[in-house]
Amino acid sequence: MKQSILRWSQTHLFTLKEAPSDAEIPSHKLMMRSGFMKKLGPGLYTYGAIGLRAIRKFEEIVREELHKANGIEVLMPVVQPRELWEETDRWTQMGAGLLKFKNRNEQEFCLSATAEEAVVDYVRHELKSWRDFPKNIYQIQTKYRDEIRPRFGLMRGREFVMKDAYSFDMDQAGALKTYEDMYQAYDRIFSRLNLEFRAVQADAGNIGGSQTHEFQLLAEAGEDALLVSDKTRFAANVEVCPAIDAVPQVSNDAEKAMEKFETPNQKTIADLEAFTKIPARELVKTLYFDSNEDAKVKTLKPFAVLLRGSDEVNPIKIKNLLGMNNEPVMLTDEQVREVTGANPGSCGPVGLKIPIYADNGIMGLKNYIVGANEDHFHLRNVNHGRDFQITKTADLRMARAGDKCPESDGRLKAYRGIEVGHVFYLGQKYSKKMNGTFLDKNGKSQHYEMGCYGIGITRVVQAAIEQSHDADGIIWSKAIAPFHVHICLLDIKDEKLNGYVNEMALRFAEKGIETFIDDRDERPGVKFKDADLLGMPVRIVVGKKGFDAAQIEVVNRKTKEVEKMAPDQVMAQVEKVLATR
Ligand code: ATP
Ligand code: MG
Repeated sequence: MKQSILRWSQTHLFTLKEAPSDAEIPSHKLMMRSGFMKKLGPGLYTYGAIGLRAIRKFEEIVREELHKANGIEVLMPVVQPRELWEETDRWTQMGAGLLKFKNRNEQEFCLSATAEEAVVDYVRHELKSWRDFPKNIYQIQTKYRDEIRPRFGLMRGREFVMKDAYSFDMDQAGALKTYEDMYQAYDRIFSRLNLEFRAVQADAGNIGGSQTHEFQLLAEAGEDALLVSDKTRFAANVEVCPAIDAVPQVSNDAEKAMEKFETPNQKTIADLEAFTKIPARELVKTLYFDSNEDAKVKTLKPFAVLLRGSDEVNPIKIKNLLGMNNEPVMLTDEQVREVTGANPGSCGPVGLKIPIYADNGIMGLKNYIVGANEDHFHLRNVNHGRDFQITKTADLRMARAGDKCPESDGRLKAYRGIEVGHVFYLGQKYSKKMNGTFLDKNGKSQHYEMGCYGIGITRVVQAAIEQSHDADGIIWSKAIAPFHVHICLLDIKDEKLNGYVNEMALRFAEKGIETFIDDRDERPGVKFKDADLLGMPVRIVVGKKGFDAAQIEVVNRKTKEVEKMAPDQVMAQVEKVLATR
């Protein structure tokens, strides 16, 4: 049963004045200082009694919302046999992130980093008829990933708690509907935490599906670069964000005759800008890549990409344009010489016999400068269509702050984000590899359609702190606060005060309000500091002097507002503060 009253003396809780030196970001520092958790090893933490309550409360919110999306909760093993992971080739594909080991019989296992294989194995013998669909199966379970550099506490741990869900539908329309339902469930989950978040478009990577969104909390400490509209809820990971000029650059000049000119030792765009006095956004740079992805084939398949000098290439956009599996690799200087006859810095598109992909940004330019494919020379008054042919034009540059919002006349602003959840349409990738078939209405055998949906439970709880704290400590929202009320009992031996506090906590409990009582033999100042550090939404100070004068202090942790009142008015005040949290 839920424990709604806890006394400090009944816990194992020790706060720290200073955070350990490996804690770099505010949330990590506060979690260490408040005794939320303790480090056992790199990326490994013991969650204390108070911290665990916040984690469990968040898990409950996740369960409630997933059940509305027809989620079925199960619990799969953390230890999983090699054979299962071999079925999808991920035993080797996952690389060193998958922690592997042998048992006494020399059988090989790994620790679950994710559970697509395990869940398909769980359902594949029973999901056999179209009548069995849809199914949406989830678990809240420990994951282990042997991250190279665990850091920021629970943000990038090695062992962490994840909610992972897997959906099974008989056709694509069903799968996309489930995807939408899960997207909505995620929206409700993060809204309930009162957090500033965005669902952002992200790159589908190699999982094979075609649709994915990341749920990102906006925070300085985030590892991901996002662009967010100042007008709408549009947001995208910079990796995939469409790049649209806020003011399109269009030249109406007549085409002039192309000519070669000497540019001794002018190699970079910055060099050229200084040398020609022409701004980088009107210069054109040429980059060279290899599209060969077959390790057995040694010959290059070079291609060139043209961009304005002021723009940065986005390799993920090239990868997607060319349908490659990975981002293309840039040619070495040696290879560039082979392809163009000149050193990088003097190369350009004129006369090249390889495919040339141009970023949209150069389409409006005329009479521009490019490398001449001859060391220390450039060409001026170059025009595409006349002097060289473009194979394909596309959006190939990195979007940046100030670009146009793709869905309104607003502008994009740059933010950092913490990825707290991920929804992914998988298609038939796993059902094909693991022989997951069913008989459709016509009695025909089909592979089912899947989606996978993760939430980093422990990462979210830390991210919530990262978004809501002040110089003195954590500021919990009511939704996941370990307790709602923190009572600082000042005269711990006073029977009358103890009686009052006990009775008050019981009355709170009847209303679902949970109380933590600091009954330590400590000075008031120490208690107040720790109450701020632990961050429950309401603090009540009960001391002999205040009690006798009918002056009980009720403090709003977030606003620091202090109200003093007679004992019988405390309940109403607590409810009032909680209603705002
Ligand atoms: P990241 O890019 O941050 O490594 P991921 O793309 O590997 O994340 P998924 O495989 O989609 O993550 O896992 C689902 C969720 O699990 C993520 O959205 C994130 O919230 C959480 N998560 C992933 N790795 C970690 C980790 N090392 N520590 C804590 N949470 C994690
Ligand atoms: Mg990862």
